[in-house]
Order: sequence, then C-alpha cells, then structure tokens
Amino acid sequence: MGAGPLRTAGAGTLRPEHAGAEVRLAGWVKARRDHGGVIFLDLRDASGVVQVVVDPAAAPEAAGVAREVRDEYCMALAGTVRLRPAGIVNPELPTGEVEVAAVEIRVLSPSDPLPFQIDDRAEIDEVRRLAYRYLDLRRPRMAANLRARSKGIAAMRRTLDRMGFLEVETPTLIRSTPEGARDMLVPSRLRPGTFYALPQSPQLFKQLLMVGGVERYFQVARCYRDEDFRSDRQLEFTQLDIEGSFWGQDDVLATLEEVMVEVVSALDGTPPARPFPRLAYSEAMARFGTDKPDLRFGMEIVELGTVFASSRFQAFRTTLESGGLVAGIDAGPLGLSRSGLEALAERARALGGKGLVTAIVEEGGTLRSTLAKHLDEAEAAALVAAFGAVPGDTLLLAAGEPRETRVLLGRLRLELGQPKGHRQLRFLWVVDFPVFEITPEGGLAPAHHPFTSPVDVREMEEHPERAVARAYDLVLNGSELGSGSVRIHDPALQRRVFSVLGISDEEAERRFGWFLRALRFGTPPHAGFAVGIDRLFSVLLDEPNIREVIPFPKTQTGLDPMTESPTPVVAEQLRELGIDLRPEARAAMEGEGEAPPG
Ligand code: ASP
Repeated sequence: MGAGPLRTAGAGTLRPEHAGAEVRLAGWVKARRDHGGVIFLDLRDASGVVQVVVDPAAAPEAAGVAREVRDEYCMALAGTVRLRPAGIVNPELPTGEVEVAAVEIRVLSPSDPLPFQIDDRAEIDEVRRLAYRYLDLRRPRMAANLRARSKGIAAMRRTLDRMGFLEVETPTLIRSTPEGARDMLVPSRLRPGTFYALPQSPQLFKQLLMVGGVERYFQVARCYRDEDFRSDRQLEFTQLDIEGSFWGQDDVLATLEEVMVEVVSALDGTPPARPFPRLAYSEAMARFGTDKPDLRFGMEIVELGTVFASSRFQAFRTTLESGGLVAGIDAGPLGLSRSGLEALAERARALGGKGLVTAIVEEGGTLRSTLAKHLDEAEAAALVAAFGAVPGDTLLLAAGEPRETRVLLGRLRLELGQPKGHRQLRFLWVVDFPVFEITPEGGLAPAHHPFTSPVDVREMEEHPERAVARAYDLVLNGSELGSGSVRIHDPALQRRVFSVLGISDEEAERRFGWFLRALRFGTPPHAGFAVGIDRLFSVLLDEPNIREVIPFPKTQTGLDPMTESPTPVVAEQLRELGIDLRPEARAAMEGEGEAPPG
C-alpha cells in the first residue's frame, strides 16, 4: 500500500452516505467466507465491523492475500465504500447497508489458531478466558464493558470537576493500619524487617487532605484487601473516593446523587429521579431483612406478633412469649405443588432457619396449611389481612430470634422475587447505621470504621450496641455500592471511640498517633464516601460478576491464569529483603513452581 496513514476511517463508522469514498481500514479478521470466487471478510476494529469484498477479477493480488488470511489476523486494506445490493443488506449490523470493495490488502500481523472463538455466543471456561484475556477483550461484550466503564468514569471526573473537586492521588505504599480486612504487605528492601502496606482505602489520607485545606477531594483509587476468597470479591478493586470539608451527610448524599445521575446518563440509561429514597438501617432490616434492600419489588416482611399473640399454635406463641419474632412474607401466586413447598422449607433450613410454615390463601379466605387446624376463622382472617393477601398467594412464615428471622425472610424474599436484568434502577440510601457491630466473640467492632462519628456520644458509651452512627450506604437493586460517614474531627472524641472499642490511649497513640496529632491542628468537620466502581458497573451493565467489568481480574481464588501470579520469587530477592521462608512455605512454593499453568 502506498504512503499515507494506515487508516482513514473506522470500520464500524461507514454508512450509505460514504458510498463512493476511498478508505483505508485496519483491524482484525472477524470472519472470512470464500466460496471459490469473490471472498468476503468481516473486518473488525474498535469502532465496529464492516463487510469487505475482494473480487479476484478486479484485484487479483488482494484476492491472493485474502485467501491466506485467517480469523483474527491483523490487516490493513484500501478500497471503495459501496452500497450493498438490496438483497444482501444486513439490518443487524450498523454498517449493514454498505460494504468495502478492497483493491489492496496487507497482513500486518498473523494470528496463531485461537484458543476460543472471539464471539459472545460461545460459552468459554473462565480460567481459559483469563489466560487469554487479551483475546477475551476483543469480544464485543468485553469491549463494550471496557468502553462503558471508561465513559462512566469520565462522567464521574467531569461532574466532580464541575463541582469544584480536586483529584488528588494518595500513596499506595503506606503504614499498616488494619481497617477491618488484612493488609497486603510490601517488604522494604532498604529497611529489612519493615513493611509498607497497600491501602485498604485512602481513608486516613483523605481526612488529612481535609486538614490540609483541600475541602473537596476525589480519587479513582485502587484499594487492596487481603480477604479470604469469596465470590465476587477481588484482592484489588477500584473506588471512587470522595471527601468534603464543612460537610454533613446531606452534602455527601447530594453530591453522590449528582454523580450517579451523570454516570447513568453517560451509559445511555434513564437517569434516576432525585433525591434517592432514604431508609434507616433499622427500618431496612425490619422490612426487608437486609441492609441493602432491592426496592424493585415489594414482598415486604410483615410482623405477625399481634396475630399469634394468643394463638393455639404453640411454636409461634412460645417464640413470642420468649421475646422472639414471628413474621412472614407474601410471596404472591407461586403456584407450587406440595413438593415445591417442601423444597422451599428445605431451602429455608439450608439458610439456617428452624422451620418455615407455608400457607396458601384459598378462595373465601381459608388457608391450605399445616397451620390451618390451629387457627380459628378470625385468626386466619387476621393473618390474611395482615398481608393484604389475595386468593392464590403463598404466605411464608418463620419464627425465631428477631434478627435471624428477618434475615431468613429477606433471603427468601430475594430468591423468590428478585427481578432479573437492570432496566429498572432503584437507588436507595440506607442511613443511621449502628456505630458498632458485635463480633462472633461477643466484642465490639466498628460497623463502618473507627473514624465514623456517632450521633450521640453519651449513648455510644452507655449503650454501644444500640448507638447510631452518622454512616450511610448507597444501594442499587439490592447491591451495596459503597459507604461513607461523617467523620470524627475532634481528637478527644476519637479517643473515646477507641476506648469503647477497647483500644487504650497508649495503643491508639502507637497505631494512630500520627493521625491523631493531625486532628489537633484545626481540623474542619468533614464527611465522605467511597463507591465501589467495579460493583457499580457490574450492576449497571447487568453483569453477573465484577470480573466482567475489570480488564485483568484474578480468579475467585486470587490467581491470574495469564501471568500465573502469584509466583515464587528467586532466593536472591528474598535475601535482599531479609526474608527467610519457613519450611512449609518453602515446600508449598516449590510445589507451586512446578504446578501446571491454570
Ligand atoms: N473508606 C471507606 C471504605 O473504603 C469509605 C468511606 O468512609 O469513605 O469503605
């Protein structure tokens, strides 16, 4: 091909109005059809796909090359755009009314045979996809996800810039100050025996930026948490981290709403109405059995204490007498057979429930249920009325410890009612979270993080288990997108929170002295938030897991099948770092070194 640019047009941009134009295209061979005469190539680049026609009579040399190319060869061509004959217009393709008659073709780079089809229809094993992620990223779905993520993040930056925020990078080699999860440690070569940690979040640095007078901060921040493997978690993830001075909760919520509206619009979605609804944590738990309710459907939990207070159904009555909860959901017209209902009860047991009572409302308001014989007519009517149920509805009732019962019903509610898809976006703020949660050992741990301001300090000290925090979560369609809080800006209050957590002044000084010192230099009141960007886009793009919106994720077990990390390192590296492996670690490492890839 002569001098000049490799490419003058994007394959996916060609339309009938370009007919007659001479273009140079460059991209990948998506498919080749050679019926012995004219050769058809589908050429794909980042802008889309166009059909290329090579006629051996008109361009014998180009036809020779076209016969040799295979799927995913990278190639360039020169040719003329022309309208397709009426019969072969492809309405599925944005470029389907045109084709390019090639006069010259050049292979820029051949491709080995492919490990899988570059096609959204193919079901491909995930480890294989990740091992060849660069090929996986050529698939339309992944390419579209990357593009949407980029557009969404650009919208975040645009919105926050317009609102006067500064984008500030905080360090990623920091002091280890465990925030809840385990820190990822980085050994220091220059000071053997000492370690940096990778940040679990920029929390303390963004607070220091407020001390530093920044007033409006944001960052698209990479964070690291060394958690046990759970599905849909990554060891590293990205947050939109924000903080503002002279701010209270309403300022944070309003800012985030603005950002979310812009992001949804940038992705061509219908922007959610503002303000987003707010629900207190206690109300979310009572009505939905979770702190991240999906508001796209009803099926709310109904308390049945008054219905069963003096019931002959002993299991429920004794639960109530001992301070337990009897509650249920109206699952609607499930239409389950007896074995279907049994399977549901089995599922409830698997979720940790002690038993599930099902009742189908019949015409006339009677109940088909094991419960029926224990209820008189008035009680049955009261039960139906409590739900506002109609004939055909299936009621699911559970009894037990109040929180566990609500959580169980909340899980069943989701499993039975949660709609698929993301066409409807229901954002929700859950506010008034508790300050502390009770650990499995019976101690107190911060429900958010220890820098969160309690609403009432006295209450926090006298009844820590009931104390409410100025902390809030953003929820979308039943997924938690992120959390934030109004921070403590008074060092004395910060010490009181530490003290309730059982952290002595000495320990606080040792772990956080550097931070507490900063609070003593005229710290403005401040508040902030962090949105999990991977989670946000996986919900907005209706992807079943966050790996689909992360360019190079790890598997659920923390491995990268492409680079095969984590890997052993050479002994010399360890020696320089002053690190000696214990025999079991050495054996495991040596074993792993020989393990087959993937
Ligand atoms: N640092 C918190 C987190 O990562 C968010 C915040 O409070 O801003 O969850």
